[in-house]
Amino acid sequence: MLIGKKDTLMIAFIVVFLILIHVNSYGEEPASSPGNEVWQAGVASVDITPAEPLWLGGYAARTKPAEGTLLPLHAKALALRDASGNRAVLVTADILDFPKAFAERIRARVEADYGLARAELILSASHTHSAPIIGTSLKCIYTFNEQEEQKIMAYADGLETKIVALVGQALDSLAPAALYSGNGIARFAVNRRNNKEGALTATTALQGPMDHAVPVLKIARPDGTVVAVVFGYACHATTLDGYEYCGDYPGFAQAALETQHPGVTALFFAGCGADQNPLPRRSVALARQYGATLAAAVTRVLEDPMTVLEPRLATTYGEVDVALEPAPDIDTLRQRVADTGGYEQRCTQALLDRFEREGSLPSSYPYPVQAWRLGSQLLVALGGEVVVGYAVAVKERFGLETFVMGYANDVLAYIPTEDVLKGGGYEGQSAQMIYGLPAPWASGIEARILAEVEARVKALQ
Ligand SMILES: [Zn+2]
Repeated sequence: MLIGKKDTLMIAFIVVFLILIHVNSYGEEPASSPGNEVWQAGVASVDITPAEPLWLGGYAARTKPAEGTLLPLHAKALALRDASGNRAVLVTADILDFPKAFAERIRARVEADYGLARAELILSASHTHSAPIIGTSLKCIYTFNEQEEQKIMAYADGLETKIVALVGQALDSLAPAALYSGNGIARFAVNRRNNKEGALTATTALQGPMDHAVPVLKIARPDGTVVAVVFGYACHATTLDGYEYCGDYPGFAQAALETQHPGVTALFFAGCGADQNPLPRRSVALARQYGATLAAAVTRVLEDPMTVLEPRLATTYGEVDVALEPAPDIDTLRQRVADTGGYEQRCTQALLDRFEREGSLPSSYPYPVQAWRLGSQLLVALGGEVVVGYAVAVKERFGLETFVMGYANDVLAYIPTEDVLKGGGYEGQSAQMIYGLPAPWASGIEARILAEVEARVKALQ
């Protein structure tokens, strides 16, 4: 085909026209560039398995330090920044708890180093009972000697520094991302107050309350590559009671997800599972089974349609004073020391020591309540070993899709609902002593905490 002079001119004209359109579409910066209208997310992970044998936390019955590693322990951080520049970091860790003094030191350093306020940082423990004791947490239930205590304290110091560095690493790796949320389901948690562990069979009708939701947050890059998955479950990580480091079922679930989805960092948070146990339990195979079950529940959520979360972040944190019953008088405590043995005696003696030191015993506790909103996704983070009734109550108020964390920021004691408080037993009454509290919570605890949750959620709007 021959092209005439007229045709050449026409083609040249079209080419110039197309170039002009192209230059115009890139040359003019829109009022807000597309890069600013997405989430920024960064993720980091660090191995926190001790290099030496340390005493493991959570059970009074252990008699010696750890004897090896079944599964390495990790701390992980997810940093988020919304389209307006608001930031927040979630830290999860395969440890029993974040006791107050430990959490306070981390929060102070994170604020000083990165300018993150208390509302913008969640410290979430998986509550595995196969990780080192953290500092002085539950000290009176254990029987380690001074030498072992020094190693435990040194581990906490090192962990504090590792977690602060981890937060910085997650913030440094912020890059454009899309966030999605959803809820799955897994049914291995059993209410341990209302079902007798030793009598359970495959045909036993289980008594609630329970919360079998598996909350899932997916973080993907703009090309769809998933880089992090945050998920939770409301159940004690007490499948195992041995002498090896292990994240218990949450550890196996995270490892399974990271193997099945290469390149993904999986972060686990504990829900309100203080009165829930994984039953049956006490074997590595069962811990692995529950981990696999939970990982499969998460994968199902990832494969089903999820809610797209707009890049809007709001955070809030508050503390509400929750009252205790009056403390026993000193003579009663002295008598208890004389009449008891074992950890009951040691914990009562610790109360007497505190009275001598401070001149009084506490009559209330500043209870931490935190809430985040990620797009349309509400997340409520509660301190302490929170019984499942709180998750049920929060979801009744704010919807079944709400994410409810327990064991966040300060694992100060068990947090019973009014029913559990009245019912007494371990979660309602006797566990107060191991947390160094002189008396049970006063009636009204549930209403007070839920009112604070409502105030926090309101503050997000
Ligand atoms: Zn516990």
